[in-house]
Amino acid sequence: MLSRFRTLALSHLLLLVASPAMAAAGSATLRGSPASMARQHEVAEEQAYSFVRTPAEVRKLVEEGELVAIPGNTDYEVSRGVSFPYAKPELRLFLERLGEQYRSACGESLVVTSLTRPISKQPGNAHPLSVHPAGMAVDFRISRQAACRGWLEQALLSLEKDQLLDVTRERNPPHYHVAVFPVEYLAYVARQEAAAEAKAAPAEPAAEEKPLAATRSAGWDSDGLARFALVVALSVALVFALGTSGGNRRNVGF
Ligand SMILES: [Zn+2]
Repeated sequence: MLSRFRTLALSHLLLLVASPAMAAAGSATLRGSPASMARQHEVAEEQAYSFVRTPAEVRKLVEEGELVAIPGNTDYEVSRGVSFPYAKPELRLFLERLGEQYRSACGESLVVTSLTRPISKQPGNAHPLSVHPAGMAVDFRISRQAACRGWLEQALLSLEKDQLLDVTRERNPPHYHVAVFPVEYLAYVARQEAAAEAKAAPAEPAAEEKPLAATRSAGWDSDGLARFALVVALSVALVFALGTSGGNRRNVGF
């Protein structure tokens, strides 16, 4: 009875642990939802991010290095309407990487229309759980080019599927809203960079054979023993044959 109870309890516990990840995985969509807003807010809280209330608080976080300048570059531009061109450092990294890929894929700059917004400057229709005051969200203009919209949507949905960010296509006004999850995104970039370095480094042919050699030496199975016995037998036969084939063979040189 006790073990049955334990099994039941364990399976419920597993369900509880698995559910959020399972719900998030494979559910990439451009539609917003209360759950996605809650998730964005939860990430900000996990990171103990400050939600800035006033322009003065934005300036303070910039001075402390918590928020960094987002000046734009040749790949992405920050539109003139952005009053506070600052965000978390991870968001700047995201903009630089995505902007570069966006430009090379569709030939135009990625346009940022909003970044950090103090609570006192949030628009009237802002969601109460909005993470713009935390500096981890960015809004993008929706391109007029269908190919660019397609590329960006696919790129963002793929990152959302890997739980590195949350993307929503908003209608009022039309834009893409993206909240970047800093820990997961930084880990992803580190993996990407390690993979690129490994690709660029000269090939090491022995590296791939090591695991095979390790499994071979891990233990002798019956096949291995049979093969070993065969090699020994052949070697003995060869030595015997050479030994008995006359002195002239010995002068060949081995
Ligand atoms: Zn937004």
